[in-house]
Amino acid sequence: MKNSIETQWDKLSDPRLCGLLAKTPTNLSMKMHNAGFKELNLNFTYSSFPTQNLETAFKAMRDLGFRGYSITIPFKEKSLNFVDEVSPEAKDISAINTAINYGSKIIGYNTDYLGILSAFTEHGLSSLEGKTVLHLGAGGAANAAFFCYKKLNAKRVIISNRTKQKAEDSAKKFSFETFDFDKLPSLNGTKIDLIVNSTPIGSNLEPNSQKLLNDISSLIFPDSFVFDMITKETDLLKFAKTKNAKTIPGLSMLAYQAVEQFLLFTEKNIEIEILKKALEN
Ligand code: NAP
Repeated sequence: MKNSIETQWDKLSDPRLCGLLAKTPTNLSMKMHNAGFKELNLNFTYSSFPTQNLETAFKAMRDLGFRGYSITIPFKEKSLNFVDEVSPEAKDISAINTAINYGSKIIGYNTDYLGILSAFTEHGLSSLEGKTVLHLGAGGAANAAFFCYKKLNAKRVIISNRTKQKAEDSAKKFSFETFDFDKLPSLNGTKIDLIVNSTPIGSNLEPNSQKLLNDISSLIFPDSFVFDMITKETDLLKFAKTKNAKTIPGLSMLAYQAVEQFLLFTEKNIEIEILKKALEN
């Protein structure tokens, strides 16, 4: 992803400060970006900013000249209100995961969708033509995935979410279908080519994934793709492997979206392997 305007570097902090805005930040983005800065010997640094107050966070960015934010749960949608402009893709997705301070203005971007597209390609899924997708969840990350399904020409997309209204709102926006989250077992017999989990079920926040596994296990076959956005090897991915299905890990999406974010922060390209190695460490 390319920067759309010229940066007034003299108006920004020295060293250039970037960071993660989150309610409860993890250190994965910090590890990747700081490893990238070190590799390219750049005068940049990346910190974690646990915050509850977006208004203050964006005021600090403007007043103190911070270069960029990564933005995660639960701020991706609300941050749209605090930037001066939004990229066309982020507008379609209705969420930003990156904010860049150019000195003159702050622009919001979404690199999650590029992370998803690259993770799909890396795992042999470069088109969804003729394919049916079952998507679990309808939050900020889900909307980036919905944008990708459209781009990849999916034949049919079924959104299933705990709060039905949110699934219906997204289905209407993208011309997809919905299915009741508590009736998933009755999808048995429907040929699903790609299952995507963008709920936290299976993460440290919601570790018990047995019910979800029972509900969808009959939909997973050796020719299925299963993508879990959670950034660890979840029970869903482990189960899919026992069925010889093709699995796409959330860490792949995380690293690829960070490559694009790194380019926005620094205007320099970083090798994906540097970021993946930082995650392994
Ligand atoms: P979000 O906006 O908070 O949305 C969470 C979604 O999960 C909502 O649809 C919510 O349903 C559903 N959900 C939450 N708890 C649930 C439960 N106990 N049972 C059933 N459904 C539940 O979060 P997000 O930004 O979309 O992120 C979702 C997941 O993707 C997180 O685990 C996040 O870490 C991961 N993620 C990974 C990457 C990556 O690069 N790999 C990037 C972004 C996000 P309701 O609508 O009913 O609340």
